[in-house]
Amino acid sequence: MTAARIGLPTALMHSYYRSFWKPFFEELGLEVIETGPTTKAILNKGIRYSVPEICAPMKIYTGHVLELLDQGVDWIYIPRFVSIRKGDVFCPKFLGLPDMLKHTIPDLTSKMVTHHLNVKHENIACMKEYLEIGKLFTSNYRKIKNAVQTGRKKWLEFRKYCVLERYNCQTANGKVFTGKPALQSDLPIKIGVIGYVYNVYDDILGMDIISRLYKLGANTVTFEMLEQGEIDRQLRGYKKRLFWAFSNKLLASAHQFFRDATIDGIIHVTAFGCGPDSFLGKILEINFSQSPKPFMTVRVDEHTGESHLQTRVEAFIDMIAKSKNFKE
Ligand code: SF4
Repeated sequence: MTAARIGLPTALMHSYYRSFWKPFFEELGLEVIETGPTTKAILNKGIRYSVPEICAPMKIYTGHVLELLDQGVDWIYIPRFVSIRKGDVFCPKFLGLPDMLKHTIPDLTSKMVTHHLNVKHENIACMKEYLEIGKLFTSNYRKIKNAVQTGRKKWLEFRKYCVLERYNCQTANGKVFTGKPALQSDLPIKIGVIGYVYNVYDDILGMDIISRLYKLGANTVTFEMLEQGEIDRQLRGYKKRLFWAFSNKLLASAHQFFRDATIDGIIHVTAFGCGPDSFLGKILEINFSQSPKPFMTVRVDEHTGESHLQTRVEAFIDMIAKSKNFKE
């Protein structure tokens, strides 16, 4: 008997939680189908089915879901992210994601596997959240428990690579799934990149900004490299945190990057039309206006051209390189 096929859209939180979801569903006996990097065709499918004013990451996610339907998978896993820290919630688009997609893509309802992800810690791999999902595919409690444990082990491994080895999301996933070590060299410049994983690592939106910087002689650090304790420490001075879980992670990483004397400049990658980032961007602008550290915002959407990004990134790195040479 062939295994049922479950699709994981390679968008939104996929790169942050892939190391849990993939082994979890595989341990349950399913074949996991991932859509892979975003292509122009996937983007165009998403644009066709989305309202124009929604942010580009949501259009891209919609495109990946349509791609999985075209591939004829049996199920598509679309969680409703509610919270991963007491007091923090997800952006409203994440909260309404399954409903929005159900109403946008009528064929999806019978294939959608969904649930509320509402936990107190970013480690989502717990029986409380995944028992009901597991029960859709097996009545064997032990098998579900084993699947959660296997997934948890992999996700903790992923986080260990991020925090202890300073791998970003992409390279940490590479290490977990293929054993390939991250490309690391001693480059003269270090840049802090602030951005949601689905912007920075998406081939269309982020346009491989991390590799572009690397080719220009800059290593990068990202928020994934901070553990939750460090995030909370960095935000201690705020009377009130932002509402959104990952926006708080970005804000905390900005504080860390601005304080870190080894970091030469900071780039904020943000999607056009992002509500939470309009707050975050303003806070960064106000809080760090007195900092001598170069800071640049790169706003991306489905129309952003590669040459535009390349020119801006090159100019930013040139400026830093010149100022470093001048000081030495
Ligand atoms: S946080 Fe911003 S970019 Fe992300 S889903 Fe919400 S509106 Fe879109």
